[in-house]
Amino acid sequence: MKIAMISEHASPLAALGGVDAGGQNVHVDALARGLARLGHEVDVYTRRDDPHLPERVPLEKGATVVHVPVGPDHPVPKDDLFPLMDDFADWVELDWARRGDPAVVHAHFWMSGLAALRAGRARGVPVVQTFHALGSVKRRFQGAADTSPTERVGLERRLARDVDLVIATCADEVAELERMHSGTDHVRVIPCGVDTVHFTPHGPTDTGPTGSTERPRLLLVGRMVERKGFDVAIRALADLPGVELVIAGGPPVESLDDDPEARRLRAVAEEVGVADRVIMTGQLAHEDMPAVYRSADVVLATPWYEPFGITPLEAAAAGRPLVGSAVGGLLDSVADGVTGRLVPPRDVPALVRGVRELLDDPEKGRRWGAAARARAVTHFDWGVVTAQTERALLEVARRRDDGADTVDTTAAWLDAHAREFQDGMAS
Ligand code: UDP
Repeated sequence: MKIAMISEHASPLAALGGVDAGGQNVHVDALARGLARLGHEVDVYTRRDDPHLPERVPLEKGATVVHVPVGPDHPVPKDDLFPLMDDFADWVELDWARRGDPAVVHAHFWMSGLAALRAGRARGVPVVQTFHALGSVKRRFQGAADTSPTERVGLERRLARDVDLVIATCADEVAELERMHSGTDHVRVIPCGVDTVHFTPHGPTDTGPTGSTERPRLLLVGRMVERKGFDVAIRALADLPGVELVIAGGPPVESLDDDPEARRLRAVAEEVGVADRVIMTGQLAHEDMPAVYRSADVVLATPWYEPFGITPLEAAAAGRPLVGSAVGGLLDSVADGVTGRLVPPRDVPALVRGVRELLDDPEKGRRWGAAARARAVTHFDWGVVTAQTERALLEVARRRDDGADTVDTTAAWLDAHAREFQDGMAS
């Protein structure tokens, strides 16, 4: 089957750990490769953000990254891409007209969904949507700091109603879609995945990027943005004497001094007197991550909120126990008291208790780590997740082949889209 994927800001080819490059890039990369290995022909459309990028770059046999030349040919914050989405869609539509229509288009993130619907409506291609994150959640937690276009929440509600299938990544996302009154009759839960061959418990613990240590080690991995709650873990360190915290992610190490969030975190570490036990590595190559996870006694994930969170899966696959916030995808990916401990978000004493429980009982840490690995292999390996996704895409494509009319007309949708745009502007 010919499959189009749209991931407007998150390219499978991007370096990870920067402000706008994280789990979605990993997800799209793994799915595209996985579907290609199953024999499908996959084109991943993403924005060209570098003048030297060729239009088509092979990812592997059967999977290609297609660079869509809209907007400036340099990186821009993803929130600025909204006005470009109609041009993006028109370019994709032309590409399909030239090269043949896909059987289905799978959009990642809300703006990709808009482009997929526009191109899909024009060419009769059914649309599957994975949100990765919902604007209503972001607005709830970030309030005035949320830089998303004001239209986002209204448009996501419409998208959820109008696409042929929504793939939610966790039960919490389904609950949020219910709260949005977008209808959940065509929503299916398929989680994010992890490469359990790359991320394994056994192998080098080459701590090259982080330095070796005799101290018990906690690890945080992720983009250096405030909502990841890295400061909560730094504050916890004050009540965990002799323990060190490695923070992997953010800009490259040589630019950490210029990064406002890195500077804020350093100031917190100074304030609570733990600066000598916090190691910030900056951005690390994804290939090096398994060894980094293995170097930790306990992995932490301390977000205020988290649409899914791939790092807890990577920790699990590497056989490490996790203490994390009881939010979003972690409610599905961490089995409390079996593979890790879930604690309320932004609760420093609860985080300290969770870490102590594991550091004081290394045997429990090993047991939970082994259980986490087993659960990662059976439930979350990309092979399992890709097969579930393939089934969903095939069903949607087949429904269309059978002549089912699952979408309204282009004109009607665009009309409603315009009304929603007005509502968004008004609210
Ligand atoms: N990552 C990486 N290098 C870094 C920081 C992060 O390879 O320096 C990867 C990490 O291993 C994980 C992804 O970026 O695969 C982060 O995904 P997650 O879903 O946890 O967070 P998101 O970025 O989507 O909020």
